[in-house]
Amino acid sequence: MRELRIRPHHLLCIGYFEGKGYSDSFSHSMEQIKELTLQNPKITLSCGSDEVCRACPNRVENGCRTQEKVMRYDREVLRLLEIEEGMHSDWNSLRKKTEEKILNCRKREQICGDCEWNEICRKNEDGANERKIPDSIE
Ligand code: SF4
Repeated sequence: MRELRIRPHHLLCIGYFEGKGYSDSFSHSMEQIKELTLQNPKITLSCGSDEVCRACPNRVENGCRTQEKVMRYDREVLRLLEIEEGMHSDWNSLRKKTEEKILNCRKREQICGDCEWNEICRKNEDGANERKIPDSIE
């Protein structure tokens, strides 16, 4: 399988994607990317246009219409995961690291709480945490 180029903050977006996006073609592309992640593809982390941006209406020639915001998200993800741009890894390892260092300690909103899709991610986080609570607590 080909290696996917992924922006660091898209480690968060892909995980919580649930069918809503900037356009129909964007959402369709995200569904396909999410499917691909089930096969644990090799990933190169890159703070530039990536696999997700390809079908996005916000993409511009040299990046993103909201470049300053998405670069801030990317930098913060790299900082919290303690990794560098350009790193080669695989989806499962990166997503596990993301869960350990960002999601499980509820740091996601400090990264991208001003994103227009924040409510979807918050709802999914709350659902994930509810599922972790044991049936009976002494
Ligand atoms: S909003 Fe910007 S960073 Fe996000 S997918 Fe679209 S082009 Fe890429």
